[in-house]
Amino acid sequence: MEISSVLQGGYQHALSRSWQAQRTLTKSMLMYPIFITDEPDARVEIPSLPGQCRWGVNKLQEFLEPLVKKGLRSVILFGVPLHCEKDERGTPADDPNGPVIASIRLLRKLFPELYIAADVCLCEYTSHGHCGLFRQDGAIDQAPSAQRIAEVALAYARAGAHCVAPSDMMDGRIKAIKRALIDGGYGNQCTLMSYSAKFASALYGPFRDAAGSAPAFGDRKCYQLPPTAKGLARRAIKRDVVEGADIIMVKPALPYLDVIQDAKQLAEDHPIACYQVSGEYAMVVAGARAGVYDLKVMAFETVESMVRAGCTLILTYFTPQFLDWLDE
Ligand SMILES: [Zn+2]
Repeated sequence: MEISSVLQGGYQHALSRSWQAQRTLTKSMLMYPIFITDEPDARVEIPSLPGQCRWGVNKLQEFLEPLVKKGLRSVILFGVPLHCEKDERGTPADDPNGPVIASIRLLRKLFPELYIAADVCLCEYTSHGHCGLFRQDGAIDQAPSAQRIAEVALAYARAGAHCVAPSDMMDGRIKAIKRALIDGGYGNQCTLMSYSAKFASALYGPFRDAAGSAPAFGDRKCYQLPPTAKGLARRAIKRDVVEGADIIMVKPALPYLDVIQDAKQLAEDHPIACYQVSGEYAMVVAGARAGVYDLKVMAFETVESMVRAGCTLILTYFTPQFLDWLDE
């Protein structure tokens, strides 16, 4: 055999296998998505998202304290308003008494070391369930959409969010948010993480159950990216870098590892994040329950593929389990 044919000598030991990784998964790379409702005492399991709940503000301490003790470093908050008056422009999104702003304030107080990100979108708060605002003729009204989303982001920054993460996919919103943060005095206080390449995916179903954010009419294909659109994804990433994003995110993760790799190359000086979305999580859990593979092995394989592709930040519902698994 040729000398160059022999590779196995380099990874015959568990330790030498670990050296083959260019990046290694750590607890600080994990961000835990949390659903917060406007029922203050709620702890309601989400059937399509096994092990995950909708939480009321009053339950956050007992829920998160054990996780913070195990090394939870960051969370991202999603508002699930069940009782608010929704309207065309998503007025309840920045209600100072709404669940997201109340939770940001509370978590900053309870867990001073915890990094708090807030998802920014309008769809949970609009009567039509879409992520932007519409003109009379039914088209998206670009500038007012970006402006409204920027207002909401600034409100979350004012409440104390370390990071605002717009998931709406409206054109121009990164620039509008960055401008609003700077003009509002939060330019150096708040990170802007863009859902840059967010695809119109079949994998969001359990999330929509959890957040009650299915659109009342139509779909989101006019603003979320077509799954085949590699070029558009690359343009969106480059645009968001220019518009002032501090972190670039790809969503979903597993079917879009090539896009993550592109993001790492196009935004080489930015941290790259990905969202292992609700349907990906549910799929991994369902496969394990069906006996296809071991849950832990598969969870590691999926998340480590995202790390390998270029991510240093992963939003995943497996975060609580990884906090245990990474200690073993
Ligand atoms: Zn939305």
